[in-house]
Amino acid sequence: MMQLLGDPGTTQYDLRFSILGIPVRVHPMFWLVGLLLGSASPEISLIATWIGCLFVSILVHELGHALAARSFGWPPDIVLHGFGGFARYVPGAGYTRRRAIWISFAGPLAGFGLFAIVLGMHLTLQKGLNAEQPWAINLMQNSVGNSIQFAILQLEYINLVWGLVNLLPVFPLDGGKICFELCDGRHSRSGQVRAYQIGMFAAGLVAFYFANLGMYLAALMFGSLAYQNYQFYTHAKQGFQ
Ligand SMILES: [Zn+2]
Repeated sequence: MMQLLGDPGTTQYDLRFSILGIPVRVHPMFWLVGLLLGSASPEISLIATWIGCLFVSILVHELGHALAARSFGWPPDIVLHGFGGFARYVPGAGYTRRRAIWISFAGPLAGFGLFAIVLGMHLTLQKGLNAEQPWAINLMQNSVGNSIQFAILQLEYINLVWGLVNLLPVFPLDGGKICFELCDGRHSRSGQVRAYQIGMFAAGLVAFYFANLGMYLAALMFGSLAYQNYQFYTHAKQGFQ
């Protein structure tokens, strides 16, 4: 999703598995930060459901990037850590702007796909309940019914809203990487300067917007992204002169 920090390093508590032939490593901080973000929930079952939703959503997002990279012949791996996750690959021959943009876009796109599936489940369940279908009523009266409803709403929110936020033209979000490619930042210093300038202003505006809504954590995150882009910008500009 976002690589705000570098590789968190391996620990003996890392969970390792592979999905669709792609190696995945989950750093223990992933569960800890998930627990902190979900700790406002009143029930332990809802906290567990929230962490499950977070895990599935971030994994699907990174799988989008990873599968796109693999389709070009560059073997990827995925790391989930305390502040999201990332899919890594070493681009080989044939690394073009178009391919780089497609790989960056494939993460949010996979999330939008999951959003569409969950929305379909939501509407089917709603229809069943409205038509007083026994399967829908039994499902909702069951003790897991509460968790299912909660999971549906969380999955919809994470995959739609986080996907859109991730497409903002702020480096190193996916949208920022796309902006970097569109400005030709990989080949020209002036392109880098332009991409970081856009990132700086976009992140500043978004931080202001979130602060106005009282969403201070998001405001703080975009404030620090604005500062990070400002640092990248001054660095790129010094090299350019
Ligand atoms: Zn991503």
